[in-house]
Amino acid sequence: MSEINSALKEDQFYKTLLETTNAIPWQINWKTKAFSYIGPQIEALLGWTQDSWKTAQDWIDRMHPEDRDKTVNMCVSLSDQGTDHEADYRALTATGEYVWIRDVVHVIRENDETVAIIGFMFDISERKRMELELEALYRKNQELLLQDPLTLVANRKALSERIENEFKRATRKQRALSLLFIDIDHFKKYNDEHGHLQGDHCLISVAQLLKQHFSRASDFVARFGGEEFVVLLPETSLEDAVRLAEEFRCAVCDLEIPNLATGKNTQVTVSIGVNCYAAQQQYHNVVDFLNSADELLYLAKHKGRNQVQYSVESCI
Ligand code: GH3
Ligand code: MG
Ligand code: MG
Repeated sequence: MSEINSALKEDQFYKTLLETTNAIPWQINWKTKAFSYIGPQIEALLGWTQDSWKTAQDWIDRMHPEDRDKTVNMCVSLSDQGTDHEADYRALTATGEYVWIRDVVHVIRENDETVAIIGFMFDISERKRMELELEALYRKNQELLLQDPLTLVANRKALSERIENEFKRATRKQRALSLLFIDIDHFKKYNDEHGHLQGDHCLISVAQLLKQHFSRASDFVARFGGEEFVVLLPETSLEDAVRLAEEFRCAVCDLEIPNLATGKNTQVTVSIGVNCYAAQQQYHNVVDFLNSADELLYLAKHKGRNQVQYSVESCI
């Protein structure tokens, strides 16, 4: 009699222990796939009553569609093999929201066959929220590392990465790659005359205009440094690149940003060097390609500024 009493107490002890933790215990009969047990805490967490969890199908149906196939396939195959495992997924609540769950599963085997799986469900929403927040912060940080903080176009580091990739791609695919090297004329004088802050506004306006003009998905606009910008135009012939550069030069004039330092009724202008890489032609590497465009820009300055210069030799 006293043994029976102590056994009951022990049962009661385990039951109380299981049903008062935050983790939710459960058991599934592997042959019938029916729940033989699920802790009553499930109702507080997901809103579905304890007796509404009849078979594994209820568990599957109450899973986020994006997580379902991956989670179910993994759990079924590992349970069949007899391997203990863990799965993170979003579970549907009775009010239509989702809660991140970690299921920790132990497989019970008899004669080399899985007869049941038992486990605990943990609510990991808070941990997931923090993980997602950290990931978003990391992504934002990566973006900022590649962005010029003043003009919000790509910075020099992003350009270095992109130009290498585009150069390789143009070589591999035997396609043209054009490059515009753009420099604002007499910008030092502009700063001296209008002040550094106004100079910053001017840089922002030119960068915005660049983004508007070179807006194909493959176009790439970067601030090279100071008042210099580079535009990469994949799959663009020299002829097209020169035309686009000329249109952009005119558009800068049309902004009519006064530059009083260069005379009465004069405005901010740009000089542009245009280069086109045609695979297996004259440039052996990215540095040669960039330098050559820089030399053409220098020529544009030398010839009187506010103009586009290009090399006829770089025709595709
Ligand atoms: P050129 O027509 O030959 O290009 O002459 P320039 O005066 O434009 O060229 P220079 O290289 O002599 O001067 C560039 C100026 O750009 C000097 C520098 O103060 C200014 N600058 C560089 N970065 C910034 C910036 O972030 N903001 C502002 N306001 N000015 C900048
Ligand atoms: Mg310059
Ligand atoms: Mg300049």
